[in-house]
Amino acid sequence: MSAKRVDPSTHLSQHMESDGPYRRRKYTSHYMDDSNPHGKQSWRGLSGRYRYTSLETVAVQFDFSSQDTEFRLAAREWLRTNVPDGHPPHSGQASRDFALNWLRRRHKAGWSGISWPAEYGGRGLSFERQMIWYEEYVAAGAPTPIDPTFVSLNHAGPTLIAVGSEEQKSFHLPKILSGEVLWCQGFSEPNSGSDLASLRTFGRVEADYLIVNGQKIWSSWADIADYQELLIRTDPNSKRHKGLSWVICDMKAPGITVRPIQNMAGAKHFAEVFYDDVRIPISSVVGAVNDGWNVAMTTLGFERSTAATGLQLELSRKIELLLNMAQVSGLASADPQLMHELAIARAEAAALRALTYQTLFRTPDSVFEGSVVRLYFAELSQRIHRIAMDILGPANMDRTLNALWIHDYFESYSETIAGGTSEIQRNIIGERILGLPRGAVK
Ligand SMILES: Cc1cc2nc3c(=O)[nH]c(=O)nc-3n(C[C@H](O)[C@H](O)[C@H](O)COP(=O)(O)OP(=O)(O)OC[C@H]3O[C@@H](n4cnc5c(N)ncnc54)[C@H](O)[C@@H]3O)c2cc1C
Repeated sequence: MSAKRVDPSTHLSQHMESDGPYRRRKYTSHYMDDSNPHGKQSWRGLSGRYRYTSLETVAVQFDFSSQDTEFRLAAREWLRTNVPDGHPPHSGQASRDFALNWLRRRHKAGWSGISWPAEYGGRGLSFERQMIWYEEYVAAGAPTPIDPTFVSLNHAGPTLIAVGSEEQKSFHLPKILSGEVLWCQGFSEPNSGSDLASLRTFGRVEADYLIVNGQKIWSSWADIADYQELLIRTDPNSKRHKGLSWVICDMKAPGITVRPIQNMAGAKHFAEVFYDDVRIPISSVVGAVNDGWNVAMTTLGFERSTAATGLQLELSRKIELLLNMAQVSGLASADPQLMHELAIARAEAAALRALTYQTLFRTPDSVFEGSVVRLYFAELSQRIHRIAMDILGPANMDRTLNALWIHDYFESYSETIAGGTSEIQRNIIGERILGLPRGAVK
């Protein structure tokens, strides 16, 4: 596929660099909005090429090769006969079993890790092919891509590919892809969400181990995960971004207590995690000890840019389903305002798809633009789920019949919080892309 980002004045076509989507990203932005000592350096790197000083008119042309089309048709055919029946359970062991069984089935047929390196069990194809797979995946009505395998496949695995040691990669990556294990993320703490650099969970170095004490919160799927990407402070005298380490934590290690939290959709898919003298081998540190902030920024680069690709594409399918519901219920002819909103949402979902493809053709320095995609997706998702509620109407708020729409509506509230809130994404866009001054305007 050779999607082009077309600038009408230059007709410039940008291509992915040859080292693929999992190169280490020079991403020094923030989970959060905060004074990163590396931020300035990266910002300087940005000036010129990707700093928008005025609104550019750009369009994206899709131009798929015959090999892309062949790949697409093969994916479509496989999905036609293999998508599992029924809806995946929302939490607990049942959700783990469902997600891992479905991943195993994909893996056996060669449909997992499409863009992951072949030596670790992937297919070594381009990220564009991964996109084509997702497009076919959602069109086939396959289980939502936000399931318990989300962290392993979309940011823990990619982080290991980018910065893990050879030993870490060859041990963990094949297990992730073949559906043997699940990962969760332990970054946020009760007082360190947007301001992640203030985190306090501490790992004391003792011979070849880190002895970890502290607490994490909102750790998605922690109750059913095997491993956690855990960000802790390892230098007792350090402040802020310095002295942190990104470690692979075995969730079965003695001293770990997981307490699931129920959300307003009724699911229990995130949890508090407590660490009481948990021993983690130093060989489980990814990157260097005390260099965890850089590794965490690599993780967040994936979390914000490529991780939600499947979900973004899923929105288009939801709109088609809503159009169908509006037609069947007669609302399509009775409520022009609703149809207007759906038409806008459909156009916005198409724009989101184009934006997602467009980000594939940027250089690593431009990953701040992941925040643009993330923000646009999150707010569009909320609008679409609100329209769904308008179409169902008060008479159809029956949890049994319309369970999935109602569940997804409640879940959509979290889109503007998870992975960094919309306010934080706006800060990043304002400061890192548009070059607005940092901090409050006096
Ligand atoms: C569904 C879901 C899943 C999650 N999964 C995980 C997970 O697996 N692992 C994990 O570690 N975390 C996870 N999180 C946590 C998530 O990363 C945090 O909730 C998020 O970063 C916000 O942090 P906070 O909740 O502490 O809010 P706070 O940081 O306390 O923010 C409160 C409010 O203040 C605003 N605010 C804060 N700072 C600024 C600023 N500088 N400028 C403007 N506004 C600001 C925020 O936008 C927000 O509206 C998840 C969250 C959700 C909703």
